[in-house]
Amino acid sequence: MKIVMLGAPGAGKGTQAKMIAAKYQVPHISSGDIFRANIKNGTELGKKAKEYMDQGLLVPDDLTVDLVIDRLSWEDCKNGYILDGFPRTIPQAKTLDAALEKIGERLDFALDVDVPDENIVTRMSGRRACVGCGATYHIVYNPSKKGDICEVCGDQLILRDDDKPETVQKRLSVYHEQTQPLIDYYADQGILKSVDGTRDMNDVFAAIAAILEA
Ligand code: ADP
Ligand code: ADP
Ligand code: ZN
Repeated sequence: MKIVMLGAPGAGKGTQAKMIAAKYQVPHISSGDIFRANIKNGTELGKKAKEYMDQGLLVPDDLTVDLVIDRLSWEDCKNGYILDGFPRTIPQAKTLDAALEKIGERLDFALDVDVPDENIVTRMSGRRACVGCGATYHIVYNPSKKGDICEVCGDQLILRDDDKPETVQKRLSVYHEQTQPLIDYYADQGILKSVDGTRDMNDVFAAIAAILEA
């Protein structure tokens, strides 16, 4: 089961990807998490990526593509994976397709979690992310039972710098310009499935499970 998650920043891709990963026992691979881990560890890549992320811009393809595609060759990916946040541009999608074709594989589904821009700013301003393990919460829709402490690892929950309203607007315009075209790209391949992402997260997941098990 090889799945790509599509949708605006804050649409709930990560939330759904984690639920899919838990139910179907395939790894959740988030390009944003990989970059944030590099930032936290102070790597050269992390320093470069942060400059773009803080402005709400995409990290250039040459810093992104090999990093993510290499990850797919790990042993835990042999039964599939859920890609969350990658690809985000048509060139990234084409490079991924070419890399898969080389090894005789292809994606099974591109799942678009559809949420209008109006809902995104509230989603993002209420998102809280764990600095330790990357778990995400929402102050209204999915609060941590321990307040601003992570239920999973006990570390601190923060509002990501790039989730502040000014940056969210920029990320949304970048999404419409560079990432939304992927919806047509995967529709043309016949693997696009869309779900209404405005509903409760468990309802969204039920719709996704129905698609994956159809
Ligand atoms: P969200 O889940 O809110 O959409 P992510 O965690 O996926 O955010 O990404 C955070 C930031 O990391 C993006 O705004 C972008 O700067 C960078 N990033 C993540 N994935 C990619 C990618 N595939 N290509 C370019 N930049 C990326
Ligand atoms: P993405 O990975 O697409 O950027 P996230 O999964 O991190 O999005 O979700 C963004 C924020 O919205 C998080 O705070 C998350 O808890 C919350 N959220 C996710 N799905 C829903 C939903 N169906 N309804 C309400 N809030 C949600
Ligand atoms: Zn945590």
